[in-house]
Amino acid sequence: MQLVFEQIRAGGDRNFGYLLGDRDAGQAVLIDPSYSPEAFVARAEEQHLAVTHVINTHGHEDHINGNSTSTAMTGAALAAHPSCPSCPALSISDGDELTIGALRLQFMYVPGHAIDHLTVYETTHRLLITGDLIFVGKVGGTPSDEDARTEWFSLQRVLAAFPDEATVWPGHDYGARPSSTIALERETNPFLRCTNVAAFLQLKRDWPEFKKRMGLK
Ligand SMILES: [Zn+2]
Repeated sequence: MQLVFEQIRAGGDRNFGYLLGDRDAGQAVLIDPSYSPEAFVARAEEQHLAVTHVINTHGHEDHINGNSTSTAMTGAALAAHPSCPSCPALSISDGDELTIGALRLQFMYVPGHAIDHLTVYETTHRLLITGDLIFVGKVGGTPSDEDARTEWFSLQRVLAAFPDEATVWPGHDYGARPSSTIALERETNPFLRCTNVAAFLQLKRDWPEFKKRMGLK
């Protein structure tokens, strides 16, 4: 196996998408190739990689608006949670796996920010694509306290499931750096430092003030 892994600035609201593949097998997937799908497909073509799947972390417009172009250009199957509005050809649920060459991608269902949210974990190199669940230094926005509570439980599952050395690759460039690790986020992300759901909900309410006080971006 020979890993290909590129973080691609898609455009939009500092959106990140990803090219992930196995050079030896000549196969790759595109994850959230929004805004500039042609650029994602070009990176795969330049490296002689066939795109087998376009994967959505969740169904928000800014993550799925490149689906039709990227699937039409590559013939790739669209893969996402069954409740994703992009109507995936391949429905992915919690615990499902996808094999791309010798790469194993594991999916976890992590609702909260969105009802159809998945994380993608590449098991050999421990790459965790977190979409809009975990950003560097913060977490995905939630429309209600109930959704925030759901997000809290998703975050606890992620922290329990993945090793400290797993690298974190978010859906937007919102932090001080473009990527992180589970260990760094556990230690420095104020939302992941909360010890209970009540503190988490309170921090969400106080976030604009907290951000200002701490001089965060
Ligand atoms: Zn989103």
